[in-house]
Amino acid sequence: MSVFGIYGSQEAAQVIYLGLHALQHRGQEGAGITCFEADGTCHHHRGLSLVSNVFNQELLSSMGGYVGIGATQYANKAKGGLGNVQPLLFHQRKGDFAIAGEGSIINADGLRLYLENQGCLFQTSTDAELLGNLIKKHNGEDRITNILEALNMMEGGFAFLICTKNRIYAARDKHGIKPLALGRLGDALLVSSETCAFDLIGAEFIRDVEPGEVVSLDQKGIRSNKYSEYQRHKVCAMEYMYIARPDSVIDGCSVHLFRKETGKKLAAECPADADIVVGVPDSGLSAAAGYAEGSGLPLEMGLIKNRYIARTFIQPIQSMRENSVRMKLAAVRSIVEGKRIVLVDDSIVRGTTCLKIVKLLRSAGAKEVHVRIASPVMTHPCYYGVDTSTSEELLCSNRTVEEACKIIGADTLGYVSCKASVEATGGCSELCLACFNGEYPTSLYEYETK
Ligand code: SF4
Repeated sequence: MSVFGIYGSQEAAQVIYLGLHALQHRGQEGAGITCFEADGTCHHHRGLSLVSNVFNQELLSSMGGYVGIGATQYANKAKGGLGNVQPLLFHQRKGDFAIAGEGSIINADGLRLYLENQGCLFQTSTDAELLGNLIKKHNGEDRITNILEALNMMEGGFAFLICTKNRIYAARDKHGIKPLALGRLGDALLVSSETCAFDLIGAEFIRDVEPGEVVSLDQKGIRSNKYSEYQRHKVCAMEYMYIARPDSVIDGCSVHLFRKETGKKLAAECPADADIVVGVPDSGLSAAAGYAEGSGLPLEMGLIKNRYIARTFIQPIQSMRENSVRMKLAAVRSIVEGKRIVLVDDSIVRGTTCLKIVKLLRSAGAKEVHVRIASPVMTHPCYYGVDTSTSEELLCSNRTVEEACKIIGADTLGYVSCKASVEATGGCSELCLACFNGEYPTSLYEYETK
């Protein structure tokens, strides 16, 4: 999922469209935009496809907008379908508002039960609807107070945008798990899941939203409130390793430089007797460059990506996932034939993709394939909205690295350590590493009893 918002533009919908386009890698199942004209007229459109298929120029021109938010959606087993594509629009006597969010609320079941017992009926399985109802329930005069009280009841990793006809509220979870950044385009104020969206539209980065902070963007500029005094910077390590675009900067740490540094550390921790280094496009490329630099081996483009195939991690069904692996990569025979290859990838979740790539390289004539992973061994599920699957589905939840190596068909397999991953941020950020070490930054509430 991704979120993007703008306050103070004459063509909010157009800018949001471009922002979502830059964030498309975070979700490809659906996209939506809600914007308000200066007179309060609301435009709301959502669809199940890529951003460029859901919106066209005519529609965007008709939406106009002075303030608005948008979101892209990725499919997971629980939260697919048009009804769950955000933003969601809420009608209230004191004024309509829209919510788009990413991440996951750990105590959602308990909060839903609490609200249902008070007469709420839910139409979606989104956390955005949960937040909307909590805001409506705290029926004070002041909307910001209602928002702060609602957020204070929620535990998890999240980034929410709440848009009214004259303001955007941008909230980040108090653990700092999900990234959220503020920017400026002329006089307009922006908020985005990733800074790469600012670069695409020529906007400047202002700062990150702080953990536990709710920022208001309106005619008074940027104002800050805290929904919680508790504050940590446990940014999701997978944002740096896999999810975010390499040209983004999260909490002061460049995603590309993080990956490159991790690759160097991986070369030191897991050397291989090989001829060339090959990175898996796209998110393995920066780490492969680092591995090559660290090991002194030449970096070669042994794999080519078909750019028009969806990312496999985001496909919801196993059969689709396997098909898309076959469709998305090709091995370059002239480079890999007869070579001992270090294959560098960002992560192994289920092992499906890695197995296919090792096979691809072998069928193109590779003599040996030594797989090196620029993230630690994934052993635990994520409860914060990253669809890393259940423990049973994870390749290494109940297997040794040696057993995993046999399953993916590699000659050797090595992973970077948690310690090296933390060091690769250069001290910019602490990291959530829960899917690697089981140390979750929050209480797990109902998940602990499931
Ligand atoms: S558990 Fe893993 S995927 Fe989930 S937020 Fe933490 S590091 Fe990211």
